[in-house]
Amino acid sequence: MVVVMSSEAESADVDAVVSLVETAGGEAFVSRGVNRTIIGLVGDVDRYASLNLRGMAGVADVIRISSPYKLVSREHHPERSTVRVGGVPIGPGHLTLLAGPCAVETPDQTLAAARMAKAAGASILRGDAFKPRTSPYSFQGLGEDGLKILADVRQEVGLPFVAEVVNAADVDLVALYADMLRIGARNAQNFELLQAVGRAGRPVLLKRGLSSTIEEWLMAAEYIAQRGNLEVVLCERGIRTFETATRNTLDISAVPVVQRLSHLPVIVDPSHSGGSRNLVLPLARAGIAAGADGLIVDVHPHPETALCDGPQALKDEDLAELAEAVRGLAPVLSRAVTEPAGLAAV
Ligand code: PEP
Ligand code: MN
Repeated sequence: MVVVMSSEAESADVDAVVSLVETAGGEAFVSRGVNRTIIGLVGDVDRYASLNLRGMAGVADVIRISSPYKLVSREHHPERSTVRVGGVPIGPGHLTLLAGPCAVETPDQTLAAARMAKAAGASILRGDAFKPRTSPYSFQGLGEDGLKILADVRQEVGLPFVAEVVNAADVDLVALYADMLRIGARNAQNFELLQAVGRAGRPVLLKRGLSSTIEEWLMAAEYIAQRGNLEVVLCERGIRTFETATRNTLDISAVPVVQRLSHLPVIVDPSHSGGSRNLVLPLARAGIAAGADGLIVDVHPHPETALCDGPQALKDEDLAELAEAVRGLAPVLSRAVTEPAGLAAV
């Protein structure tokens, strides 16, 4: 951390900063320039936050140099991590496809969607029993009955599944059934929920919040890691911008930026970013090309009757194209498409 003194700062102002930092157990190194003095602080940076250095006489600015997140940062963990979901790896060297219905509606619909997902090369099934909907009048999910359907379909099709959890009280219930817990964009700063999934003993798929900066997103991951769970996969799912032609704006640059800052795997959701079936394939290709460790896509056997997100759900012919893109592009990026692990490994 660096404290930049204003050009009018007096020597006594500099001394006051130094002595406050030293009293707090840190070290301060003063560097006097022609016009300005800067003070480099060494020690536990988080402890300095309560010192209110910015409010002291003669202080122009306080600049943090190290990242505020520690456990998920590459500074402390240079190797990129691989997270395993029921035996299926997500991480460097792999390209992992997660696919399935946005919401579990019926056993038949979920089974059909899971078969479509597997045929397209998915090794992890997605499907939600709890849906955080913008409108209280929209379908909210089947709750535990939906989780039971997913568990039956896992048995039948042989894919582990990820399901969303929308509040802390449901974490144990969802963790009882699901191989991976998902935190949705609308809950990306629900700190109580993040801490609860951090204690749940299941890998977590953490979506980026609709308006989260990359730092806020990584701080959300830090909440999970801080409770003892480093099995976190980040998902770029588009952010809210002034553009209305797409549901969200896929921030493709977030993929390499996050991979430089954090050791956690990063996947891309081309379904919830574009919000439209015909955008899924180009955005999926872009995600792979940007270096994503995987993709998560919505599929539905009858999107026209879907209770949630039908316009973006892929159908059979779209899935064949997606499968081709994944298989064709993975080797270009020196990645191997992740094969389904089979239930033996689950
Ligand atoms: C979803 O994946 O079904 C979903 C609701 O996504 P998001 O939280 O990114 O909107
Ligand atoms: Mn959805």
